[in-house]
Amino acid sequence: MKPRGRLIVISAPSGGGKTTICNRLLKKDPRLVRSISATTRPMRAGEREGVDYFFLNDAKFDRVARKQEFLEWASVHGNRYGTPAAVVRKNQKAGRDVLLVIDVQGGLAVKRQDPRAVLVFVKPPSFKVLEARLQGRGTDSRGTIRQRLRNARWEMALAPQYDYQVVNNTLAEAVTQIRAIITAERLRTGESSSKRPKRLERPKRA
Ligand code: ADP
Ligand code: 5GP
Repeated sequence: MKPRGRLIVISAPSGGGKTTICNRLLKKDPRLVRSISATTRPMRAGEREGVDYFFLNDAKFDRVARKQEFLEWASVHGNRYGTPAAVVRKNQKAGRDVLLVIDVQGGLAVKRQDPRAVLVFVKPPSFKVLEARLQGRGTDSRGTIRQRLRNARWEMALAPQYDYQVVNNTLAEAVTQIRAIITAERLRTGESSSKRPKRLERPKRA
């Protein structure tokens, strides 16, 4: 039987670079798959159903949540987002590591359920750079950017609860560092690394 795959959570404030970084990670690592979330947010130009998100109306999202078919769900920037549990579990069972690109509330909820989950927080080099990247992306109005920057301060305050923090200076550097984290996690010796080692019994000399 293959060892069960891990959950790798990548969170960052909006504009922090998580989408760009994850696309690169997925291209370089065939053992990784991305979980596709469900959301009540309207589809943006260029997005595709079942590729970027599963776009659900409020009633359908409620039904899925009520049936407890989400691994976690949260309200983010006024919309709801959730991770469909069944696909994640199927991939883990097949030995694939699953990348969850979700917000900090979701990341911490996942860790509460599964302490083996690996939480990586991607930080922008500064708030100034974050603002410039949000403006440069050209997908959000000035009001939306202001709201996302306010949210970013709250999200950054929760970052110390994550297992790892990576600063997204250059893309190449951030991707290399996250790949190193994934490699190290794959080399962990079972569950032992989070426990205190047992006292050693020296063999008695004859
Ligand atoms: P998120 O998914 O976290 O909201 P994106 O991946 O959409 O963020 O990145 C926001 C913008 O910043 C995009 O236009 C992206 O091309 C750019 N970007 C991401 N990482 C870097 C980087 N290291 N250097 C310069 N620009 C970056
Ligand atoms: P966007 O609407 O810009 O694609 O995403 C907005 C925020 O929702 C991002 O922080 C993103 O990581 C988060 N998000 C996307 N999917 C999920 C999910 O399934 N669960 C949670 N908790 N957050 C999600």
